[in-house]
Amino acid sequence: MIEKSTPVSDILAGPTASVRAARGSELRAKNWRAEALLRMFENVLEVGEDPVALVIYASLGKAARNWDQAKAIVRALLELEEEQTLVLQTGAAIGVMQTGRNAPMVISAVNNTVGVWATPERFYARLASGDTIWGGLTAAAWQYIGRQGVLCGTYELLRTIGMRHCGGANHEAMAHRWMLTAGLGGMGSSQPISAAMLGLSSLTVEVDPAKLHKLHAAGGIDRMTDDLDEALATVMSAAQDGRTVAVGLKGNAADVFPEIRRRGIVPTIVTDQTAAHDARYGYLPSGIALEDWAAYREAHPQELEDRAKASMAVQVEAMLAFQEAGAIVFENGNNLRVQALEYLGHDQAERVYRIPGFMPEYLRPLFSRGIGPFRWIALSGDERDLEQVDQLAATLFSKRPEVAEWIELARRHIPTQGLPARSCWLGH
Ligand code: NAD
Repeated sequence: MIEKSTPVSDILAGPTASVRAARGSELRAKNWRAEALLRMFENVLEVGEDPVALVIYASLGKAARNWDQAKAIVRALLELEEEQTLVLQTGAAIGVMQTGRNAPMVISAVNNTVGVWATPERFYARLASGDTIWGGLTAAAWQYIGRQGVLCGTYELLRTIGMRHCGGANHEAMAHRWMLTAGLGGMGSSQPISAAMLGLSSLTVEVDPAKLHKLHAAGGIDRMTDDLDEALATVMSAAQDGRTVAVGLKGNAADVFPEIRRRGIVPTIVTDQTAAHDARYGYLPSGIALEDWAAYREAHPQELEDRAKASMAVQVEAMLAFQEAGAIVFENGNNLRVQALEYLGHDQAERVYRIPGFMPEYLRPLFSRGIGPFRWIALSGDERDLEQVDQLAATLFSKRPEVAEWIELARRHIPTQGLPARSCWLGH
């Protein structure tokens, strides 16, 4: 009888949806630095959106080129000595070099396409032939820790807006205000949750009912509806009474944003987190049904992109009108303004850029004071280890009480995904 032996890492048994990062104090690699990187690689697949496709988040963000390469990476990490460096090119292991103990253990560059070659057409063609991937910011870097990372960033962003525009970032200051936004994907689903942590009500427009149901089941939105009247009544009466509510509305942002403006309603904050950076996969144009999106993309890829950009332009015009009427409006890192300009014409740039980007407007001032996102992960898998580091952070940064405040909120509101992890904006 041949016995089936358990592979040393679940990745070696792949393609599989059930990768689980190793826990405990036993080494599989030859040293802890390599073991740590191996656990981080396993962890992004444990918490990722579609592990069988190696997709971690944002529709296309992948952890490795393909399963053969994922296995090759694991085998290399298991053999890596302290004085060696594994070199990765766009999610593929291309060699191990003799370096030194102070050198990085892994060097990885993803999709560094430059100049005239850096076009969407070339990217999609190379994606189809399996020659490249998009690595996101934390997928191919094996740093993704689930929802908490972006949730923490969105919380800091809304906190900064509260401090600057609303007279504070607590329930008292935020309770009579509300935010209009769109997109409840991997990143976007952090919006209603972080708003609620600050006492801010929200109305989020999403085309895909499955996303609404998923977040509702996870407790991230309180109500979901496909009726705009009901959605507006719920969020506006909550804001009037000083209660906090998170409403998800099934609809297309390119239709809903202008309609709300047409009714003369002005939310306190207006933004968007659809995957607008990708006009082919990330933003459903107005007038196309969700069920027809994939077939339309297949049959008329260029027309689909043009229509998506036209719809983004309509949404951006509505956002400008909200701004004129006194709302706090910003773009949340999804390139919505640039895509809209492709349709409107770049001579409209001065007007469209009256909508500021979240980074220069709200976060860079924090970065310039050394305040930014840090994350720590208990490779042991033991929650008590996470608690110890949390406690240490709260003690070391006691001059910024918001650090301890966030850690407490995160403990209460964010379920653990994968290895116990914390994302926190420290200040140095
Ligand atoms: P995702 O693909 O997981 O989700 C996008 C969501 O938008 C989907 O649920 C989709 O159904 C919905 N959608 C598409 N078109 C729509 C429309 N017309 N109206 C309403 N809903 C629509 O993407 P994600 O991971 O949530 O990322 C969203 C964007 O945020 C990306 O562009 C990403 O690059 C950007 N991003 C920003 C930050 C930041 O710090 N601000 C960080 C990471 C990513």
